[in-house]
Order: sequence, then C-alpha cells, then structure tokens
Amino acid sequence: MQEEPATVGEIRKALGGCQWVTRRMLKRHGNQFPTRDQVELWRKNPPVWFLQEKKKRAEEQAEKVTVTCPACGFSIRVKAKTARYARNYEGLYCGRNACDYQPPKTDGMVTVIEYNAVGSFTGWKHVFPDNKQTASIMRARNLAAAALAVQPGSPAQRILRALTAPAGIGTHIVSVNDWSTGVIVDADETVEIENPMVAAGLHRMVTEGEDAGIIVRTFTNEVSHTLASGAKVPVKEVRGWHLNEGVFQPMDEQAIFSASCTDAETGEPIAPQRGVRYLDAYPVEV
Ligand SMILES: [Zn+2]
Repeated sequence: MQEEPATVGEIRKALGGCQWVTRRMLKRHGNQFPTRDQVELWRKNPPVWFLQEKKKRAEEQAEKVTVTCPACGFSIRVKAKTARYARNYEGLYCGRNACDYQPPKTDGMVTVIEYNAVGSFTGWKHVFPDNKQTASIMRARNLAAAALAVQPGSPAQRILRALTAPAGIGTHIVSVNDWSTGVIVDADETVEIENPMVAAGLHRMVTEGEDAGIIVRTFTNEVSHTLASGAKVPVKEVRGWHLNEGVFQPMDEQAIFSASCTDAETGEPIAPQRGVRYLDAYPVEV
C-alpha cells in the first residue's frame, strides 16, 4: 500500500502528462493530497473533475481569433482571451520587418506603441502629451501648419534663420524647452529645418507671447577631442535666450553657463560638457 501523498509530478504523469494540473486545482475539487494508491487508480479511471477541466481547456484552445495586419494581410491566431487586449489599443499591426506599416499620426497627440500587445502584434494608440511643455509645443495646431512653417520665407523659417545664421553656416541644434530640431544653414543663408513641429511651435510661441527657454548649439569645424573609436568630436558653441512676450532676450556667457551646468533638481553645479564653449547670445530680431 502506498499511503503517502503523491507529488504533483506523479499526479500529472498519471493523468497523461497534463502540466496544467496544480495542487490548487486538486484542492478546489476537494482532494488536495491524494495518496499514491489513489493516483494509481486515476491512471486507469480519471476522476470526473479532471475530465471536465480537460474539456474546458480544449474548448478554450479551440476558441481562437484571427488577427490580421491592416497593411500586409499577415495574420495570426490567438486565444480569444488574448485577443481581448486589442481593446487597449486603437489599432494593431504585424510589426514584421517585411511590413512597413506605421500607425497614423494625429496632431497634438503622441503615438504610443507596444510590442507583443496581442500575440506577436504591435498595438498603437494616441495619448495626450503628459507634460505641459510638450503640450504647448504640440499645440502647433496641425501638420499642415507645420508643413507651412518650413516653407522658404515663412515666419517660422525666418525665426530659425535669425536664431542660427549669425552663429555660422553648418549644423545647429535648436532646443525650445524640451523639444529640439536640427537646423542646417547653407552658404546662401537658406535654412533646412528637420522637425517642422518644433518650427511651427516656436512660431506660435513667439506670436502668442508665450515664455520659453531657447538654446542653440552650433557644431564648429574645430576638433575638441578624439574618441577611442577614432571619431572626432567637434567643438560646440552654446548660446541661449529667454523668449518672453515675443522677444528673444539674449543670455550672456555666464548665464548660459550656469543654466547649462546646474542640476535643475538640486541646484548643484554639474561639470561642463567636454568640448562645449558657452558664448554671449546675439540679438534676434523677428
Ligand atoms: Zn503587416
């Protein structure tokens, strides 16, 4: 006689290797610690509760749903239970390299994507930007306004040229609060703006008299130092302005240095970045 309780492993083996049988399930059916003798009997005559659980699981497995990518038609079969996660998203797509689907963009909203949202599919949804600065710059009304902002001769383009051209031809990074765009000034002083949303947002802040901190970083031809990889790091010039009631108020070298080299949270000084030169800002007329 084998009176001692069987292990979960022995029980699963006797029931045909069903790994989903758990001690908790046994408890639910009023038989948490069956003896080895009892389990030996189950091998030939599986208990009713086990057959019911098995049937339930088979039904769940059969209840699968097809999810199809809207772009390429690739589809997967997932459990109905998994498919319900689709409710948390505005849309799903396959996310495979072979498929170039991109979620649509909506003005003023941020697109959040989550991998493996439903099975292997990626989910996307639009959410409102979660901080005030983001919200204000994203209020750049719509993408049409952003597209207009980078047209030659547009007010937004004139503002960015006035901010960057006096620092020289070449590449500049213009930061407006937390947002940045690359701005390339060509020899004929035409400018290329990488992120139209930032240009449109800055233009709106100027016209609506909103306050902002503006920093222009300019990449020079001078080499500051060479990295272990052999890459040469250029000297960057940094200038800053306070935008206040539509007027760019230049910061002097000392002010931009302390603004850049002070921890915003603690007020403690932080080491200046290597290869960075802080300079007096020039007047910006718009
Ligand atoms: Zn696809």
